[in-house]
Amino acid sequence: MCGIVGYAGSEQAVPILMGGLAKLEYRGYDSAGVALQQDCGLTVIKSKGRLAELRRQLETAGDTRGTVGLGHTRWATHGEPSDLNAHPHLSQDARFAVVHNGIIENYIELKQMLLEKGYTFQSQTDTEVIVNLLAYYDTGDLLDTVLKVRNKLGGSYALGVLSAAAPGQIVAVRKDSPLIVGLCKSGALMASDIPALIAHTRDYYELSEREAAVLTKDGARFYNVNREPVSKTPYHVDWDIDAASLGGYEHFMMKEIMEQPRVLRDTISSKIHDGEVVFPDVSLTRAQVEAIDRLYIVACGSAAHAGMVGKHVIRRVAGLSAEVELASEFRYQEPLLTDRSLVVIISQSGETADSLAALRYAREKGAKTLAVVNVLGSSIARSAEHVIYTNAGPEIAVATTKAYSCQLAVMYLLAVYLGRALGRLSDEDNASLLKELQALPDKADALLGCKETMQYYAAQYYGAKDIFLIGRNLDYAAALEASLKLKEISYIHSEAYAAGELKHGPIALLERGTLVVALAATVSMADKLRSNILEVKARGAEVLALAQEGDEKIKTVADALFEVPRTPDIFTPSMTIIPMQFFAYYVAAMRGMDIDKPRNLAKSVTVE
Ligand code: GLU
Repeated sequence: MCGIVGYAGSEQAVPILMGGLAKLEYRGYDSAGVALQQDCGLTVIKSKGRLAELRRQLETAGDTRGTVGLGHTRWATHGEPSDLNAHPHLSQDARFAVVHNGIIENYIELKQMLLEKGYTFQSQTDTEVIVNLLAYYDTGDLLDTVLKVRNKLGGSYALGVLSAAAPGQIVAVRKDSPLIVGLCKSGALMASDIPALIAHTRDYYELSEREAAVLTKDGARFYNVNREPVSKTPYHVDWDIDAASLGGYEHFMMKEIMEQPRVLRDTISSKIHDGEVVFPDVSLTRAQVEAIDRLYIVACGSAAHAGMVGKHVIRRVAGLSAEVELASEFRYQEPLLTDRSLVVIISQSGETADSLAALRYAREKGAKTLAVVNVLGSSIARSAEHVIYTNAGPEIAVATTKAYSCQLAVMYLLAVYLGRALGRLSDEDNASLLKELQALPDKADALLGCKETMQYYAAQYYGAKDIFLIGRNLDYAAALEASLKLKEISYIHSEAYAAGELKHGPIALLERGTLVVALAATVSMADKLRSNILEVKARGAEVLALAQEGDEKIKTVADALFEVPRTPDIFTPSMTIIPMQFFAYYVAAMRGMDIDKPRNLAKSVTVE
């Protein structure tokens, strides 16, 4: 998400900051700004829109001289994209300026505290609490003050801080959001990613989670949590600039697969407060939830697959029956909609034309509407009455990975939310589900280690003509998404079947050596699925099974087995999809396909 650049040195900062921000555009953003340390104090120039707009503002802004400054491209998470919400943010007294990448999870509590102390806020962002906390806790020493404020912050952040009272200095800290520091002849730079530095240096320091950096024209100093100086060894890169935009990955898809633990953490932890699921932009009353007699989940492509998982989980956890409908079909089948219906629309971009049309139709019919979207301020987010944001950050590869994973997480959270609102989820079950949900990012992290294993399987099957996937229930829903990944990027014909349905026809397609991937992670379905594996093996298929660690029985039937971390059945799609994303990726790579931009596909499908 978003981009940060900082420069403290002896040259003019604006060209360096703007050059750096341009190199971070690939990360996606909706507004941009710079803050400069000037003789008269701190100056902030910012605007909604592209960098070209910011450039225009800088040209007409008068004096933009200054050799120390911060730049930011924002990808809105709290508050719509607007001039006011753009970064940098100034403290109420204009003594501090901050750029922030990430999400402050406890900002509501912090904001409340500051409001009680008389602070006022200009923006809707979580970031503005940080800059006012700096003013509130100011000790007169910038590093000290930043370290003090950092201890109050929950969530993820990379921060660059300027103070009018600390000329020539930038202080940087981070947690769960990237930040690197580089040195050049005229001073020191910091940035979210290497491309922003590469015009000035190819050596950079990685700021560790609990470290702080102080940048001046004489270089950078690093400190640990106790403010003791630490010496660091720089990394060297010799990539060309294009490669660097990918942060060292060959494709955005791989980069985005690897980002999943972090974005899952952002999505899940930002929606759990005091042991309950809380959606800030959902205002359904308990009576309205109780009155729901029909729940439709409406989406396209991968989002519809996330919806299928949602259907199972909502039924199991909240005791509410849901139907999943393809957005392009929804309006034409005369769905039974009244003011007691809840229509949940899922869309990464929030601009999907079919989903938007379905949403408008649902509203016309008087149904309640809830959007699950990734892009703040998008058409679907604006048109729905209630919104839940996935915090996946900008997704660039056409085939979704991290946004889908975050949609799954929101489905789980929604199920728990509805279960509580309907009084069908006890305190105990609520606590244990949320604990398991919060453990998912770490399990996803552990799964990233399966990359090489999946590359090995891909090497065995990348020449396949057809690949089939089977699963039951939640495993079937996950199989649909895994199959879509294969189709989208490898162009191999692939189908997902509900495993029990195979014998009613599709089993005729199997030939000796055909690969069947069996998703067998839901324990409740394991016995039945083993029988289906035997059925396909009896027809000559080769079976790669994905099952939970410790499932001994599956070993006796599958040709190859990949074990995913143990988790309650309802969360298994989040586990099996990650190895399958790697598998699809490597199959496509070995076939020499254009992984990030597959033929015939677009990222945001704005036509019906
Ligand atoms: N949460 C912050 C905001 O919404 C920062 C977003 C970003 O990382 O760009 O303003």
